[in-house]
Amino acid sequence: MIERTLVLIKPDGVQRGLVGEIISRFERCGLKIVGMKMVFADEKLAGDHYAADEAWMISVGKKQKESYAKKGIEVKETELELGSKVRDYLIKYISMSPIIALVIEGHNAIAHVRKIVGPTSPHDAQPGTIRGDFSFDSYQLADSSKRPIQNLIHASENRKEAEREINVWFTDKEIHDWKRIDEDLLYRKGK
Ligand code: GDP
Ligand code: MG
Repeated sequence: MIERTLVLIKPDGVQRGLVGEIISRFERCGLKIVGMKMVFADEKLAGDHYAADEAWMISVGKKQKESYAKKGIEVKETELELGSKVRDYLIKYISMSPIIALVIEGHNAIAHVRKIVGPTSPHDAQPGTIRGDFSFDSYQLADSSKRPIQNLIHASENRKEAEREINVWFTDKEIHDWKRIDEDLLYRKGK
């Protein structure tokens, strides 16, 4: 199934000079860049991206609670309270300096990009993933520093999220139909 997904290289990835490193990981597995630009987002655009969606905020809070629970730490705030606080952090973070926005296309692109990126906390991310290779940040370090986990990348989690987020960052004209030279091989059909 050919899909499109939104990837943002967040301010820490751009500021640390990791843009080329990161993009090459998506390119080299055969995925195709169909949109790309540098954006210095204001808080309005950042808030459109990290929309005040209750279900998403609860899912963010849930992941945090699970990560703390694994370490035997109990968190008192509700999932929604945690998620809402993280959203405020995120809006400031992704509007603090320019980011790179990409639309990436290919077979199962949404799940495949998430696999290359790794789990939310770099502390939990395996070496070989972008978050595991380029950061050691964790829920504990980020929360105690009153900022979001600096994990280099945003990548859409599912089709609905991808469609909505691509529309936040890109117009139709900024997304291009083109063919990679290796596509005939990558999508080859046997006789
Ligand atoms: P992702 O899809 O893996 O990026 O993770 P989420 O959608 O759950 O969260 C969005 C972003 O919020 C993450 O990439 C982190 O930068 C940040 N974040 C998520 N959960 C927490 C948390 O519990 N604490 C802090 N400080 N930041 C978080
Ligand atoms: Mg997410």
